[in-house]
Amino acid sequence: MPPDNILFSKDPAADLQLFLNRKGYSSIAILVDNNTSKHCYPLLKRDDKSNVIIVPSGEEAKNIETCVTVWEELTKRMLDRHACVVVIGGGVLGDMGGFCASTYKRGIDFILIPTTLLAQSDASIGGKLGIDFKNFKNHIGVFQEPSLTLLYSGFLKSLPKAELTSGFAEVIKHTLIGDRAMWSTISKRTLEQQDWETLIKHSVEFKSRITHEDPKEKGLRKILNAGHTIGHALESHLLSKGNRVLHGEAVAIGLITEGFIAKAKGLLTKSDFDSLRNYIVSIFGKISVSKDDIENVCELVLQDKKNKDNRILCVLLNGIGDAKWDYEISVDEVRTALEYYQSC
Ligand code: NAD
Repeated sequence: MPPDNILFSKDPAADLQLFLNRKGYSSIAILVDNNTSKHCYPLLKRDDKSNVIIVPSGEEAKNIETCVTVWEELTKRMLDRHACVVVIGGGVLGDMGGFCASTYKRGIDFILIPTTLLAQSDASIGGKLGIDFKNFKNHIGVFQEPSLTLLYSGFLKSLPKAELTSGFAEVIKHTLIGDRAMWSTISKRTLEQQDWETLIKHSVEFKSRITHEDPKEKGLRKILNAGHTIGHALESHLLSKGNRVLHGEAVAIGLITEGFIAKAKGLLTKSDFDSLRNYIVSIFGKISVSKDDIENVCELVLQDKKNKDNRILCVLLNGIGDAKWDYEISVDEVRTALEYYQSC
């Protein structure tokens, strides 16, 4: 069962208002980006445009400069410690808006209303908040739970297909590390055939259970980083050279390359690895990765937040439906796996 602060809603406008009435906040600010202001805020049928703060969309805006504008707006609007920030957006806004609220006046309440598949199935659960710093993703941040996460799959209707596909990578990840039967179900379906409501519930329940058991990522929670050692490094590198890559696309490559390493170590059978690779490529296609990219990724992997004593500690699948964390891998294994991806 998901915790009390998570609500699956059929009527987000009514459920939000009910929650706000119950809490009796001194005032609220509503944080949106330039897309969610158009596509999602109207679905909440509110009559409080003057409370709305609009920030630019995208990972490029997930930085301290945008936080400064948010803190300025909260200050200008005289929000006190009994106020609440309602964040309506994808993972970028959820991470950053939650971070702004959790640090403003040493922390005020915030509500997450995630509007992308990635945010609904992953980013809005588990209390990790933060921003990017220089080339490092999510380098500055805190752990803090929202007062409420309001989930409504209807927001996905306006989401561009590329963003839906990107979010699917985290859903795939949850099945690969935790539920072989669900993997069998989704891997027989195309993107269009997926049942998002069921999959969001599945992901939320799975991630809530893991993060409840290990909120500060001392052990078990690390499995949620499957695909992210190589995926994050690749994403940071491609973004720093100006290439457009979505988080989920990078995670998808991470799942294939880290799967390749798991197979080489005898943790994943060839047939399981083949089915993982074939399905992920069928959904995400292939991204071109050059020899230079591979060398840069190998350097960045050495900076991964999960490393210890200069050892690269990765999550590897232990068969489909199970995973091991803190598994040491070498830079050479990362290079070989990326060369394999280039040629597969
Ligand atoms: P995003 O927040 O950038 O949203 C993607 C795009 O879709 C944006 O342009 C946004 O404006 C637009 N958009 C959002 N909802 C829309 C809707 N309903 N209709 C139309 N357009 C809409 O990207 P994302 O993929 O949601 O999130 C990625 C971020 O999530 C990354 O920064 C990543 O680090 C973070 N993340 C955090 C966690 C965590 O545990 N906190 C987990 C995974 C990922």
